[in-house]
Order: sequence, then C-alpha cells, then structure tokens
Amino acid sequence: MADLKALYQEVILDHSKNPRNFHSLPDADRTAVGRNPLCGDQFTVYLRMDGDTIVDIGFEGQGCAISKSSASMMTQAVKGKTGVEAEGLFDRFHELVTGKPAEPEALGKLAVFSGVSEFPIRVKCASLAWHTLKAALEAKGAISME
Ligand code: ZN
Repeated sequence: MADLKALYQEVILDHSKNPRNFHSLPDADRTAVGRNPLCGDQFTVYLRMDGDTIVDIGFEGQGCAISKSSASMMTQAVKGKTGVEAEGLFDRFHELVTGKPAEPEALGKLAVFSGVSEFPIRVKCASLAWHTLKAALEAKGAISME
C-alpha cells in the first residue's frame, strides 16, 4: 500500500501544480463560486451546456493542493457527462472521501482521494469543487462550505 500512496500523492501534486481546464469559459451558460473558509479555498466553476450535457467546463481560483487537484480532476471526470451522471459521480466521490466507498471501481482515477477519509478536515477541501459544480448545475450562484 505504501507504493499506492506514493502514486496517489504524485497524481495529486501533478494536478495541483498543473491544473487541467484551469481557465474561465467566456461562453459559459452556468457558473458558481464555492468557498471553503476553513481552509481558504475558493473556486469558480464554469459550464457550457448542450441540453443536459456538460460540453465544456473550466475553473479558476485558488486553494490548497487537495482542493485544486480535486477541482482539476473533477473537470476531467465530468466533461461530456450529463448533469445527472455528474451528480451520480459526486455521490460516489463523497462516499469515497468520507470513507464509505460503495462502488470505488466506478471512480477510476478519482480513487486517488481515498486517503482524504483519514483527515476529516480535508473532506471539505476535496469536495469543494464538486459542491460548486452541483451549485452551477442547479443555477445557484454561490455556496460556502461552513
Ligand atoms: Zn483546502
């Protein structure tokens, strides 16, 4: 398991240093801002929808390595998915980071965040981007993880 942990840390570091889809979308039709005051993480998520499908997604903002890498990997995971599929993935992800993974195999690369369940204070960091995505899908402008 030590090797797996090291690999997971490497993936998280890579995504926090080189976040994917880290830009605004000028033609976004949904946006939301998410804040995690406990840690100081703050991100804006931008969505371009075609019907119920997320055709493009970007994010901007700043936060700790966990929150930023989670946002980066979230954008990769949900691009091309429907809102319902994305929310289903969020449910699986939330189970993972709270230590109750029902279907860990459904998460693919997102499994790198399994170690977060050992650090309850980090759960909000890891799930901030997902809550923000959900707020954007539900056309809520902003959320705060207090
Ligand atoms: Zn954080």
